[in-house]
Parts: sequence; C-alpha cells; structure tokens
Amino acid sequence: MHGIVTKSTGSWYQVQTADGKRYDCRIKGKFRIKGLTTTNPVAVGDKVDFDLEPDQDQGVITKLYDRSNYIIRKSINLSKQAQIIAANLDQAFLVVTLASPRTSLGFIDRFLVTAEAYDIPASLVFNKLDMFSDEGLEILAEYKAMYENLGYPCHQVSALEGTNIQHLTSLLKDKITLFSGHSGVGKSSLMNAILPDLQLRTTEISDWSDKGMHTTTFAEMYDLPGGGNIIDTPGIRELGIIDIEQQELSHFFPEMRQRMHDCRFNNCRHINEPGCAVLEALENGEIEPSRYESYLSIYHGNDTRS
Ligand code: GDP
Ligand code: ZN
Repeated sequence: MHGIVTKSTGSWYQVQTADGKRYDCRIKGKFRIKGLTTTNPVAVGDKVDFDLEPDQDQGVITKLYDRSNYIIRKSINLSKQAQIIAANLDQAFLVVTLASPRTSLGFIDRFLVTAEAYDIPASLVFNKLDMFSDEGLEILAEYKAMYENLGYPCHQVSALEGTNIQHLTSLLKDKITLFSGHSGVGKSSLMNAILPDLQLRTTEISDWSDKGMHTTTFAEMYDLPGGGNIIDTPGIRELGIIDIEQQELSHFFPEMRQRMHDCRFNNCRHINEPGCAVLEALENGEIEPSRYESYLSIYHGNDTRS
C-alpha cells in the first residue's frame, strides 16, 4: 500500500492512504540519508509504501520515496544528530507578532535563511493585527516592505477576529504548507481558524513558563477541506540552521546573493574586505542594516534565541 506520513512520534508513524484512511506503522530495517545521521529516518510528509500486518490495522513501512526537500533541526540532546521535521514541502509560513510576544528580526531572518537553504518558498504571517496601534501599523508596513522587496510575501491577519483568514486559506489550496512560529504568536489559534474542526490546544501566555524545556512533540499533517495540507510543528521553537558553511551563508540572503559577484575578491566574506559590493550596498542604504546584522550574527554563530 502507498501513503503519506501524517504524524510521527519517532517510533510510530501514522500513514494516510489516498482514500483518507490512516494506519499506524512502524519501520523495519534501515532507511538512511546519505551524509546525515538522523534520530528519525521517516518524517511527516514522506511518501512511503507499507505492508499491513495480517489481521491488524497496523503496518510496516517498507519503502521511502525520494524527497523533493526536507527540513531538519539539530537534536537537542545529541548535537551531532539531526531530526527530520518534515519532507516534501511546497511552502513554509512563519507566524510572527510585533507585540506580546514580539518576534525579533533575527529570528525571522534565521527562519528565512533556513528556508532558502532547503529551497522552500517562505512567507511571513503577521498575526494579532487587532492589537496594533498606529505606531505598530507603521512598523508593520516597514517590515512588510522590507521583506516583500526581498521576495518574501507578507500577510497580516488576526486569528482572533478572523481578519484575512480566507485570503490566507486560499494560498494553501492544493499545497503542503509548513506552519512555524515561536510559542505565543497564535499559531494554534490561526490553524484553528483555518481548520475550524481541528481544535488544537491553545496556550495562555501565562503558562509558557516551561517554554525553554524540551518536550517530545513532533510535526503533524492535517487535510484542508478544499485540498492541500498543513503541517504543524508543535513544540518546535525554531528550525535549525544546520550545516551551512560560513562561505555559503551569503547565498541564502537574496540581497547579497544578487550582489556578491561584484565583490573584488571571489572569496569575499562581506565583513571588511575592500571592494565589497555588499558593504557598498549597505552603506548606500540598499541593504537593510537589520538584515546585515542577522548575516553577521549567523556568520559568527551567535544564536541569540530571541
Ligand atoms: P501558539 O503558542 O503560537 O500556538 O499560540 P496560541 O494560539 O496558543 O495563542 C497564544 C495567545 O495569543 C492566546 O492567548 C491567544 O488567545 C492569543 N491570540 C492568538 N491569536 C490572536 C490574535 O489574532 N489577536 C489577539 N489579540 N490574540 C491572539
Ligand atoms: Zn563582499
């Protein structure tokens, strides 16, 4: 039988067949990804073959199909190992807020770099629009202009009031979309607004005192009534930037990628080299200082986690 993995606990995998039936499956044998040690060989979004065990409604995964892409994060306990979060994504949406809690630009940029590295089109969803003051709306307009200019669509929504939810939903049709976002931004509320019969658990701001703790939660895929799927990543605070070489990093900043061929040195790090086209653009105001700051921060491995 053939299906797509819709849920993973690390040892059990829920596989959905084309007729919408879901089966709990295990893995037999070994599935390895070249050059990568992973704690889970199969992930949500994976296309697999499985055999049903006689007289049971559970199965064994026998084949893993090639992935168009996948995202991983570093395992919290074993830094050398990676955990595959999801595979075969068409797009990734990062839910962010400008207040309570505020998403930092550094956090947004790390997400975008990750999406670039995995070749997944990324969009930003600014939630809690209902809370914005006039000043907040101005900042939002600035961010929107900055990121749309770089090729990242931005959407403004309110999960609470239902603002622009229909438009957002229309962008999900027939696609596999990953939703990410740090705790408290309203990701669950938003997914509940998109899928009214879902009823994901939403958390009150007051009870994320344990947000620094590692909880064993995994990605899960949901069917959209109009076609397409969304993948939730509960408990995953941040997609890890893993295995990006320092000299590769500027490729994942579109505004740098576009200019770096004009640098005098072809191994330019864009930090203090003479004749650097990136630094020149920064000085001319063509590259946003916050984006360049994020570049430096990632380059030097400063993980501010804010
Ligand atoms: P998650 O941690 O990202 O899944 O966030 P939740 O969906 O649990 O929401 C966190 C808090 O933000 C809850 O108290 C929600 O009621 C609140 N919230 C979510 N969306 C909105 C919104 O659009 N506007 C306002 N004002 N509050 C929201
Ligand atoms: Zn340069």
